[in-house]
Amino acid sequence: MYNPNRFSKLLARYAFHIRYLSRTASGPVRVRFAPSPTGEMHIGGLRTALYNYFYARQNSGRFILRLEDTDQSRLVPGAAAQIQDDLAWLGLRIDEGPQIGGPHAPYTQSERLHIYAKYIHQLLKSGHAYYCFCTEKRLDLLRKEAIRNRQIAKYDNRCRTLKHDEANMRINKGDPCCIRFKLNGDDDCASFDDLIYGKIKYDIRLNEGDPIIVKSDGFPTYHIANVIDDHLMEISHVLRGVEWQISTTKHLMIYKAFGWKPPIFGHLPLLVDANGNKLSKRNKDTRLGQYRQDGIFPNALINFVTTSGGGFIDDIDRGIKPKSYNMSQLILRFNIGAIKSSPGKFDLDRLLEYNRLELENLVKDENSRLNLVKSLQVMVKQHFMGKTDNLLQLHNEHVDMIVRWSLNRITKLSDLLQEEYQYLWCIPDVNIENFDESDIEIVRLFCHALENKQIYLNKQAINRYLQKLAGDYNYKFPALMKLIRQVLSGLQTGPSVADMLIILGKDNSLLRLRMFVEKSEAKMKRSTWGSGNMK
Ligand code: GLU
Repeated sequence: MYNPNRFSKLLARYAFHIRYLSRTASGPVRVRFAPSPTGEMHIGGLRTALYNYFYARQNSGRFILRLEDTDQSRLVPGAAAQIQDDLAWLGLRIDEGPQIGGPHAPYTQSERLHIYAKYIHQLLKSGHAYYCFCTEKRLDLLRKEAIRNRQIAKYDNRCRTLKHDEANMRINKGDPCCIRFKLNGDDDCASFDDLIYGKIKYDIRLNEGDPIIVKSDGFPTYHIANVIDDHLMEISHVLRGVEWQISTTKHLMIYKAFGWKPPIFGHLPLLVDANGNKLSKRNKDTRLGQYRQDGIFPNALINFVTTSGGGFIDDIDRGIKPKSYNMSQLILRFNIGAIKSSPGKFDLDRLLEYNRLELENLVKDENSRLNLVKSLQVMVKQHFMGKTDNLLQLHNEHVDMIVRWSLNRITKLSDLLQEEYQYLWCIPDVNIENFDESDIEIVRLFCHALENKQIYLNKQAINRYLQKLAGDYNYKFPALMKLIRQVLSGLQTGPSVADMLIILGKDNSLLRLRMFVEKSEAKMKRSTWGSGNMK
């Protein structure tokens, strides 16, 4: 419903963004996704990547991937490759990055150490940075004392006053040391305009001592490498998670020390689960790999993220049925000014609904359906391999038929691997001991009718035929349904026999019926011979 109050608030908000963007942005839009390869990508990282991508594409800008791997102790082997593979799976085209290269290569921080060294040297020379020889033991004592005195635990900047000569002497002696940045920026650096949050005031100097910019292992820390790279790579807008917001004033001081113009900063709001708890890397079910493995489609995941991450007018909120938009539509619909600072709630049920919508889209398209068929064949083989000795029925027409039939029944392809659907793929193991001569006979008759095209494979014709068969043969109709269901699927209860016959198709159904008859006949023969021998 139209709400004038809400509208004027929105208008004021847009006006702020338009004013702000036109005041500060100059030159082309260049944004980056800068993950640390310390593990798998999660929903938070995905949102950051995606929103940077939307922003780049909407403004004919460049989307850059930079791997921030300077914290060697937290690196996870394979994570960098996995992140790049995930981005490719999502369909995000990288304009500059570790694999594709670009004018500011290399795009992996551990390959840029010589570049950082040059700039850090500059900071040392200009007096914005200094060597620090404080031991872990001393820092620990400082921490403990601060806690005892109920003060904020922070470094007391002692080595700031160390004379050059003394520092050099200790370096030559081989004393372990790090390099710290002097948090000296003026008050200008204690606040900034956040594209999403508005004015942010945070004087880092009140809460932190001078930060380390080069660790004792010689590697630069995140803060310095991040600022140097954003500057050298000509990043125009930094869009990143709100957890980095308190670092921004520190970064502004570094920009100031170099005399560089900072980019525009926008922090994306916190993401919470349905109970309002912060989504973190510890939430197992927010791993991208898990979604991929579960058969969530990339476009479903993308649409889902846009409904919770802000920046889009929510169809559900407007009372419109949710729709799965394609990438170009999402780029057009994205509105950075509409991102709210309140936390985005992830409702996982919505994800499944988007997956169902996407499945519908994919099934409608001939080529995409063919791909679905192929992936399903692989999934079924992998899933049932070793679990059953029974034959898997996976020929193309059969799988294609199942894919079409499954719409409105499932939300993801992997649902078709559940036990209730096993009969679609596997010829069931029916225990023939449970059946007598009359059961076998009636199956034989049904099989014969099906073979001789006496039954059309439609619901009405099948039911009519089975009713007549039960009547002619003096067999209870419900018992006949149960019998055929068991022969076809191994299930005691489940979908109607007509549904099963239709989805399995004539050939697959006949194969199952015949196998049952043949096995039962063989058993009968064995038992007749057996009793003959006894005589
Ligand atoms: N490497 C940081 C991360 O993994 C990136 C922070 C930033 O975008 O500045 O979140």
